[in-house]
Amino acid sequence: MAEKDLSNEILDEYKQVLLIEKEKTESLINKINDIQKRNTEERSGDTSSYTLHQADMGTDTSESERRVYILEKEIVKLKKINVALHRIYDKTYGICLICGQYIPEKRLKIVPYAKYCIDCKNTEELNNNKKRR
Ligand SMILES: [Zn+2]
Repeated sequence: MAEKDLSNEILDEYKQVLLIEKEKTESLINKINDIQKRNTEERSGDTSSYTLHQADMGTDTSESERRVYILEKEIVKLKKINVALHRIYDKTYGICLICGQYIPEKRLKIVPYAKYCIDCKNTEELNNNKKRR
């Protein structure tokens, strides 16, 4: 397996990519949170009633609904980025968490925080969709 190990140089490259991505994601999350907080304050004057489930509140919340949707997606992404960064420090980065195979670099270039190879990801998504229904 050693000959397939990602070199420190390559790991460092991914680390930089992930750190930039992390910063972008965090600032986007903060921005959306700010807008949401401001809107909620304006609407009700009560910040304590703000939850991520505001989406089921009513008709004039479609904008807010959309933001919550993006926010949730970005939070998930941030978690994935953090996990990926940990895996870089652990030197387990780039290994599929399910089958233990190396994730092709082609895929890591597009999704640097990928946890699974494409095959396992597809299987996971199928399972998740089944669970949700
Ligand atoms: Zn896999």
